[in-house]
Formats: sequence, structure tokens, C-alpha cells
Amino acid sequence: MSAHAGLPSVRWSLRGLDDEGNEAWLIRGVSRKLYRCPGCHGDIEIGTEHTIVQYVHRLGGTEHHHWHRRCAEELLIPALRELRRIPAGESSQAKLEKRGRRKSGRRRG
Ligand SMILES: [Zn+2]
Repeated sequence: MSAHAGLPSVRWSLRGLDDEGNEAWLIRGVSRKLYRCPGCHGDIEIGTEHTIVQYVHRLGGTEHHHWHRRCAEELLIPALRELRRIPAGESSQAKLEKRGRRKSGRRRG
């Protein structure tokens, strides 16, 4: 965990795999509207730095949620495996959606 302290940031996103082998990308964001954090069910106020969690499903398709940074650090990140940091430019929503449209199958590291 400490290796990824303070991430995701402006420069670095994180990517890991969940129990089912779906990719979970953690991206720093600033909220433009009110979101509900799935971790604590509390509000994420507008203008708050938070963590966007975008799943790229193993069988195709994407889905994203907005989390408090601390909730993601405490509840989500510990459940991911093979967590690594990725330059933030590689984790734009457009790129991840494209990744989600790719046919399922072998996926390189
Ligand atoms: Zn929360």
C-alpha cells in the first residue's frame, strides 16, 4: 500500500485486478457534480478531489464510480491485486472505453 500512497494523482493513475479478473483503474478526478461514494454512501461535494474508479470488464464493457479518496484507499485498493501505477495519460475515459470494446480474451500485462 505505501508504494502507492498519495495515488492516484494528476500524473499517475493506478490499475489493478478485482476478484473476477476485471481491470479496475483508479484515476484522480475533481467532481463537477454531487456524487455518492459507494464506499460510505456519503456525498462527494462538487469541486472535491476524489478517485474515479473505472472498471474494464473482462468480458467487455466499462463502468465507473466516484469514490472518496480515503474510502478507495481503505476499502477498494486493498482488495485489488497486481496493482501498478500507470501514467495518467493512459487512463483517459476514451481510452478505457475503447479498451472495454476490445474483444475479450488474452490480455497483456
Ligand atoms: Zn466515501
